[in-house]
Amino acid sequence: MKAKYDTCDYCGGRVFEKRVTVDLRLKGKLYVFENVPVGVCRKCGERYYRGPVLERLEELAAHQNFFKDKIQVPRFDFAEAAVF
Ligand SMILES: [Zn+2]
Repeated sequence: MKAKYDTCDYCGGRVFEKRVTVDLRLKGKLYVFENVPVGVCRKCGERYYRGPVLERLEELAAHQNFFKDKIQVPRFDFAEAAVF
């Protein structure tokens, strides 16, 4: 069953639940979760996370259960690369 969300705090748009990929940093580590139910504003795209969902993500990261695989991500140092 999909959760109900209030209208968007930023633009007043309607918020609908979608299953999205969430990148989360916990204790300095980056975790990627797929198919997470998150409220997404239809107008501006702002995301709204429900407490129990966030708790579950932290629990999964902490216990490493349901862990699928590791992915590599490109890393940059903007200070080295930026020329203004
Ligand atoms: Zn919005």
